[in-house]
Amino acid sequence: MIFRTISSLQDQVLVWRNEKAKIGLVPTMGALHKGHLSLVHEARRQCDRVIVSIFVNPTQFNNSSDLSAYPRSEHEDIQLLSGIDAVFLPSPQEMYPCGSVSRLHVGGISERLEGQHRPGHFDGMATVVMKLFNISQAHVGFFGEKDWQQLQVVRQMVLDFNHTISITGCETVRDPDGLAKSSRNKRLSQDERHKASILFQALSLTAESIKNGKDVAISEKNGKEILQKSGFDKIDYFEVCDAQTLLPAADLTRPCRVLAAAWLGDVRLIDNVSVPKPQDKSL
Ligand code: AMP
Repeated sequence: MIFRTISSLQDQVLVWRNEKAKIGLVPTMGALHKGHLSLVHEARRQCDRVIVSIFVNPTQFNNSSDLSAYPRSEHEDIQLLSGIDAVFLPSPQEMYPCGSVSRLHVGGISERLEGQHRPGHFDGMATVVMKLFNISQAHVGFFGEKDWQQLQVVRQMVLDFNHTISITGCETVRDPDGLAKSSRNKRLSQDERHKASILFQALSLTAESIKNGKDVAISEKNGKEILQKSGFDKIDYFEVCDAQTLLPAADLTRPCRVLAAAWLGDVRLIDNVSVPKPQDKSL
């Protein structure tokens, strides 16, 4: 069923809550692909009722041309979600009737990487996600590891605000050549699409190199060079970080992640992979 107003969705949620149904929420910005659908699939597996929201949230775009170029395919999205209990498709006016007056800021982990290169992005994201949590009254929220830092920001926000929702992170879904599925991939030219898979290769080689005991800084440098030599126009960051704090990795015995954002033409790609613990050479 499609819901375009907050009150109509809230009425439905009340019925489900009274039935003691377990409610799952999958927040998206639409232009759905298999990555989104894997979250929906996991939500259906864990929950009795599933709400998928589709909202291209203007407050998380720090660049108006990125917002206007963001792909939209409402008709196809609705078809892909046939059989889902609730598809929530609010307008910006419905979500922000008074404009964007109150904003939520998650400190610390939201300052670096994406936060540094997209000022205000995480404030806009956290604010809309908190609104969606409150509107949907969901028991579980589903987020992709593709946006690793976003997942950590959401977890931190839930913790800090004592929200009762639990968060499930879902593995990144990739094309056969390794490129992470993303709505923005639609905007790549044929040549750019060909080069795009090198991002995953560079991340994977960096993770592998650290696992094999190579120095982190050298591994990062080599990974960056692969992108530069392959025709990526600009690299916003390419860093090995602590998977939870997103600070530069200092202790490789803790879970770590290599995260990158890089440009092909006017398309910005982000991706990340986990770093296996370095092999103990004394064994
Ligand atoms: P978006 O529509 O890009 O805001 O993404 C909505 C949700 O889908 C976020 O939690 C993303 O992390 C997740 N997502 C996007 N792409 C993928 C992917 N390739 N694999 C898994 N999850 C994804």
